[in-house]
Amino acid sequence: MRAMRLAAARQPLQLIEQETPAPGPGQVLVQVSACAVCRTDLHVVDGELSEPKLPIIPGHEIVGRVIALGSNVTRFKEGDRVGVPWLGETCGTCSFCKTGRENLCDKAKFTGYQIDGGFATHCTADASYCFTIPNSYDDVHAAPLLCAGLIGYRSLKACGNAQRLGIYGFGAAAHIVVQVARHQEREVYAFTRRDDVTAQSFALSLGCAWAGSSDERPPQPLDAAIIFAPVGSLVPTALRAVAKGGTVVLGGIHMSDIPSMPYEILWGERVVRSIANLTRQDATEFLELAEHCKVETTVEPMPLERANEALKRLREGKLTGAAVLVP
Ligand SMILES: [Zn+2]
Ligand SMILES: [Zn+2]
Repeated sequence: MRAMRLAAARQPLQLIEQETPAPGPGQVLVQVSACAVCRTDLHVVDGELSEPKLPIIPGHEIVGRVIALGSNVTRFKEGDRVGVPWLGETCGTCSFCKTGRENLCDKAKFTGYQIDGGFATHCTADASYCFTIPNSYDDVHAAPLLCAGLIGYRSLKACGNAQRLGIYGFGAAAHIVVQVARHQEREVYAFTRRDDVTAQSFALSLGCAWAGSSDERPPQPLDAAIIFAPVGSLVPTALRAVAKGGTVVLGGIHMSDIPSMPYEILWGERVVRSIANLTRQDATEFLELAEHCKVETTVEPMPLERANEALKRLREGKLTGAAVLVP
C-alpha cells in the first residue's frame, strides 16, 4: 500500500510504500477511495494535540470498500462500502461508555491520530465503528460527512432549538450544518475572516440570512452560536452576539487561548460548552438525516500525493468546502 505518513510533528507528510496490513479480529481491511481533510489533521501535523501515535497516517473521513474481513466480523461483507470516522475504539466498560457518552471515553482511540488513517490506499478499522454510507452519495462527496458533518451535527444538537444561529468559521463543517439548519427552518448568520468575500458569498448561496466578518455584530441577537474556527478570541465575541439564555458551542478539538472577559457577557444564563468527538449514535442519526435533508457537500478532490498542499490550503483558509484526497 501507499500512504502519506507523518514521522514527527511540524514535518511535511511523506509518501511511503509499505506492506498492506492484515485485518485483526473484529477488523475490516478497507481499500480507500476517498478521504476528506479535516482541521484536526492539521492540528495533528502541527503538533497541537498531545497524544498522537508517531509515525501516524492521518485522515479520519474515510470512504472505501471492504476487501478482507478479520475473524468475528458479521456487520459487513467483502465488497461493502463503508465510512470510517474519527472514533475508532472505546473501552465499552467505563462510566462514560455505559451512559451513552462513549465520545468521552478515557481509553478511546481515534482514527488518524492513534490508529493509522485514510491518507492511504488501504487502512484497517474496527468493524463496529464503521458505517454504511447512504446510496445517494458518491465516495468523494460522502467523505466530508464523516467528520465535518458528524461534528457539525453534534454541535448543532448542542444548540437546542435555537432559531437564530450564528456560525463562526465557514469551512467544511459549517457548509454542512447550514443545510441541516435551513432544513429545520432556522435562520443562519455566517461569520468569516475579515473580507473573505468568497466564504461570505458561499454562505449566502447556501441559504444563510446574513454573512459578515467575525468582528461584526449580527443585525439581531443570536439564540446560539457555533465556533468552528480555532480562535479563542471568538468566544467573547460570540458571547456578545448571543441573547440571554443563549449557548456558544465550541466545535473544534483545539483552540488558541480564550482571553479573559467580563462576567457580564456570560451573565444572563449564557452557556459556553465544547463538543468532543462523536458517538456511534451521532453517526447513525446524522447519516440518515443527511440523506433526508439532501445535504450536498462541496468538495475539491486532490490526488493523495498532494496531501501537504491540501493541508497548507486549509491552514490558509483557501478551500471552499472540503479537500478530499483520492488515492
Ligand atoms: Zn470507555
Ligand atoms: Zn475531523
